[in-house]
Amino acid sequence: MMAGKTIFKRIIDKEIPAKIVYEDDRCLAFEDIHPTAPTHILVIPKKEIVSVAEIEESDAALIGHLFVVIRKIAEQMGLDRGYRVVANSGPDSGQEVPHLHFHLIGGRKMTWPPG
Ligand code: 5GP
Repeated sequence: MMAGKTIFKRIIDKEIPAKIVYEDDRCLAFEDIHPTAPTHILVIPKKEIVSVAEIEESDAALIGHLFVVIRKIAEQMGLDRGYRVVANSGPDSGQEVPHLHFHLIGGRKMTWPPG
């Protein structure tokens, strides 16, 4: 294991397993290991971006692509009643893994505001 690799980089590099639901040259989507809803998918760029706070102008097309992928996965998973897309960024948000990821959560009624 290379020092400094995040758990998500190790999943990208196939060093540790994950239940992958989608992959292309720019991104990966896999099931969250601790699901908070019947559907809980993490969608991540293969590029190592720490969080939303580190997104640069040159990443705009990549981030747009991630959202198209999120929409397609949501359709494939039958989330026709809606879903939530969440990106925790930084310590106050509770972000645990310092590799940009979007949570796609659905399959149950949700409440607002989040905790
Ligand atoms: P964060 O709190 O950083 O927004 O979310 C990190 C998410 O990654 C959590 O929902 C957590 O359950 C998930 N996670 C952490 N480690 C692993 C892992 O090794 N495999 C998978 N599939 N998910 C993980």
